[in-house]
Amino acid sequence: MPRPISARIHLDAIRNNLRLVKRTASSSRVWAVIKANAYGHGIERIFPALAEANGIALLDLDEAVRVRELGWTKPVLLLEGIFEPADVETADRHRLTVTVHCDDQLALLKAARPRERIDIQLKMNSGMNRLGFRPGEFARAWARASDVEAIGAIGLMSHFANADDGEIDWQIDEFDAATRDLPGERSLSNSAAVLWHARAHRDWVRPGTILYGASPTGCARHIKGFPLAAAMTLSSRIIGVQSLAAGETVGYGRTFTADRAMKIGVVACGYADGYPRHAPTGTPVMVDGVRTRVVGRVSMDMLTVDLTPCPDAGTGAQVELWGERIRVDEVAESSGTIGYELMCALARRVPVSVDAGVTSAHPV
Ligand SMILES: *Cc1c(COP(=O)(O)O)cnc(C)c1O
Repeated sequence: MPRPISARIHLDAIRNNLRLVKRTASSSRVWAVIKANAYGHGIERIFPALAEANGIALLDLDEAVRVRELGWTKPVLLLEGIFEPADVETADRHRLTVTVHCDDQLALLKAARPRERIDIQLKMNSGMNRLGFRPGEFARAWARASDVEAIGAIGLMSHFANADDGEIDWQIDEFDAATRDLPGERSLSNSAAVLWHARAHRDWVRPGTILYGASPTGCARHIKGFPLAAAMTLSSRIIGVQSLAAGETVGYGRTFTADRAMKIGVVACGYADGYPRHAPTGTPVMVDGVRTRVVGRVSMDMLTVDLTPCPDAGTGAQVELWGERIRVDEVAESSGTIGYELMCALARRVPVSVDAGVTSAHPV
């Protein structure tokens, strides 16, 4: 028998979240962002849940090809664009839309002779200072792009630095001022802007993390008003129980000391499964349907939990590490990170199954 740990991916949760995006940004089309192997959920696994998206956005050319091979005929956007001449050929062969964020990428397209023109998203650096043309250069970059034979439609995109915690009007203003006289479809919003900044919705939105039910801020409280469903459940079982006397400690480093006699459950899940080693004592966990806490240090293959609230839980008891009841954001927040990182870091050794839910009525 394999170790009892497993992850389950819920396609209905993703369908639900995608519909919520469509209701929230009701006049926008949706690029479903599935980079990083669909934030750790697996592109092939979640693909059936994406039927209602208008396009798929990701980074990796291999992932883009996989999406085409799965039969996706709607647009596919490469969020970082192309890196070398061979990529233009791939983009041409698979009809990929490519982000263009710098002159080197324009030069690659200028040198290419694709069979069909390649649609691009011209990216503005409106203040994030990661990728893109600065606002003052943007109209000239657009003019250069529109002169390139290989380029088809030119969309205009930018990305927010802090849509998750407030003020983004300055970036929208930069973008609007620099694109005032330019045609083309606009795309600005990541998950946070979809939820909280209607002014940024425009022609296309680009949600990632909320499709999987995780909070853009990394904080579960912040998505209270939105019925997002958790797309991944990580579960395991208790494989051992220890009864501690007051004053005894648990695990490496002896970081937790029992202040009274208590029972400790040993869970088959550790940092080699993707559970954060930084999760401190107090991180929430569900045992036998009862909320309790991690105690002591997370080790490679195991972690330990306080069985005080569920004294009947013995070997074999069900444990939810994260999912619908313990949100991945809660574990992340307790561990000083965000749900994104935990979902993406699910380890290969964890067996994953798919809960297909209702088959979508919309064919791809
Ligand atoms: C990752 C990414 C997104 C999605 O971000 P979320 O915060 O997960 O919604 C959108 N746009 C770009 C350019 C990205 O790289």
